[in-house]
Amino acid sequence: MPGPSVRIDLKKIEDNTRAVVSLCRKYGIEVAGVTKVTCGMPQIAKAMIRGGVTAIGESRLANIHRLRASGINSTIILLRIPPLSAVDEIVTSVDISLNSELPVIKALSDAAEKHDIIHKIILMIDLGDLREGIWPDDLLTTAEQIVRLPAVKIEGIGTNLTCYGGVIPTKENMGKLADYAELLERTFNLKLKYISGGNSSSLPLLASGRMPERINHLRIGEAILLGRETIHRSAWPGTTQDAFLLSAEIIELKKKPSQPIGNTGEDAFGRHRKFRDTGMRMRAILNVGREDTVVEGLSPAEKGITILGASSDHLLLDVTDAEIPLKLGDRAHFQPSYAALLAAMTSEYVVKELIVDRSIQRTEPKGIWIDGEPEIVKMFSQAGLGKSLKNLKYSIASHIGTSPRHNIKEHNLTQHNPTIREVALRTREQCSKGYMPLILGGSHRMTLAALIAQAFNTEAFGLLWFDSHACFIPPDLKKHYPKSRSALSTALGYSRVPWFPELRYRLSPENTVIIGVQEAEPEEVVLLKKGRIKTFTMEDIDNLGIKEVMHKGLIRAASGTYGIHVSFSPSVVDRLVSEESAGGLTLREIYLAMEMISNSGLLCSMDAVGFDKIRKQSNSNRHIIERIINIILSAFGKKILGE
Ligand SMILES: *Cc1c(COP(=O)(O)O)cnc(C)c1O
Repeated sequence: MPGPSVRIDLKKIEDNTRAVVSLCRKYGIEVAGVTKVTCGMPQIAKAMIRGGVTAIGESRLANIHRLRASGINSTIILLRIPPLSAVDEIVTSVDISLNSELPVIKALSDAAEKHDIIHKIILMIDLGDLREGIWPDDLLTTAEQIVRLPAVKIEGIGTNLTCYGGVIPTKENMGKLADYAELLERTFNLKLKYISGGNSSSLPLLASGRMPERINHLRIGEAILLGRETIHRSAWPGTTQDAFLLSAEIIELKKKPSQPIGNTGEDAFGRHRKFRDTGMRMRAILNVGREDTVVEGLSPAEKGITILGASSDHLLLDVTDAEIPLKLGDRAHFQPSYAALLAAMTSEYVVKELIVDRSIQRTEPKGIWIDGEPEIVKMFSQAGLGKSLKNLKYSIASHIGTSPRHNIKEHNLTQHNPTIREVALRTREQCSKGYMPLILGGSHRMTLAALIAQAFNTEAFGLLWFDSHACFIPPDLKKHYPKSRSALSTALGYSRVPWFPELRYRLSPENTVIIGVQEAEPEEVVLLKKGRIKTFTMEDIDNLGIKEVMHKGLIRAASGTYGIHVSFSPSVVDRLVSEESAGGLTLREIYLAMEMISNSGLLCSMDAVGFDKIRKQSNSNRHIIERIINIILSAFGKKILGE
């Protein structure tokens, strides 16, 4: 990783969440985990959900769409007061919004009525911090109008402190919030579900035991992500402060004087600076700067390092007293403040590196489980697939189906195909026994079975999809294409009837990488972009080289997951099965790609599909099948010269 990066430890975020949630639970308080500083990164929201939050709070609709695309079905609360111009989008994509403007609330009701839904709101009251909120004097007159609206429901009231005015939550101002809640309930005969007392700055009051009892909801970001309350920014008990670490590389390391030489004027950012003469010092320049983060918010993680200053692309350090000596090319690490983290997460120049402890889920497989469409499984087994895998020292278990031996007519064939469900369930069971699945099928229908099995066994996994088609036809166009052309969009939840939510949750579009595409419909391209799915076309592979493409693809697919599934269709290889795939990857390129997958140690399952064309003449196509077996073997670790 040559440039600046943020390393994100998902386990630490999960543990921090648990610490905050368990304290809150003790006082009868529900927590919404706030992801806005991470631009709505789905893996982070999922870590918070595992840690026990009951909802996700987000300030931007774009981030909310990102979360929804990754299968997050939990309650999502829109934190920033909605603009009049986006009411339609809001009622259809968020469950609850925070509000303070009557005209907007009326518009929300109109929009919700149009869609035949009830939109829930939390009415914000300004208790003196002077950011959003109804002034308390206006509360009753405003609420009186809201309760008459047909499609909006007041789900609760809330306040936000320590944001603009720095007002600290106290027993008194929180008590007022509780009083307003009771006033509303009495006057309008309501029952409020949430009395939402604020953000991370409310935790000290809560821990002191002085939070009024009726406060039952908090919206927490910083305390979970950075492990700090936000009044004094002190470490919060039970949390760690280094779930996020920003780092960059030392690109110059030299002894220089501490005072500039010559007459000095303004620096690059228009400031006059004073320098103290401390003699000759060892100085390091890092390849990170003001374009990437808020430099004032960085605290060096390595002892004995101080920050001297920064320009747009350079960070200057004094490393003379570094406890562990640094050399050129080393990376220095920093704990970011909230502001520094926000800038780094938003910058496209900063790589986001998600970490999970893969040792929890990934051990050496006990063997390989071969399953899929019986015809195809048989075809490969006759060509020696099982034997070759045994030669690689894998033990083999497989399900050879019971379909009739000869004269299988087309319609019979589909009838006797095992259903996706059957293969998925058998494979799931074998996965849990420690087998690594290899699923074989005529079309991408069988890929779905492999993905479902994986979703049952892994918290989060990525996908490398090798095919000359993206197979990402949007739901409304599906009927014009063969089923396999929409296999991937279906798997990722883009279908009219939401399809297998578990899979959608475990396999994020952001961990899905398509390699070798030769043609795509315009509508496919739009949907791929919307879902943030990385696609490497043959043109990209020509430009970057397969090695670079695989390097990037593996990082992307594996980020924050416990491993990857590989889906291979021979259509990706130049004229392997038919002339239609002319212009695809060369055999050398596909071997190299599979070897890189094997070397990464990330493979957790594989499918090979797309054999409908050759199944009928499997005898005359024996050499093709043997080639495909060799490709599969490369993914499972076969090298030209053996070990
Ligand atoms: C950002 C935000 C929060 C979370 O604040 P933290 O200090 O990160 O806990 C809560 N409520 C609202 C309305 C916010 O905008």
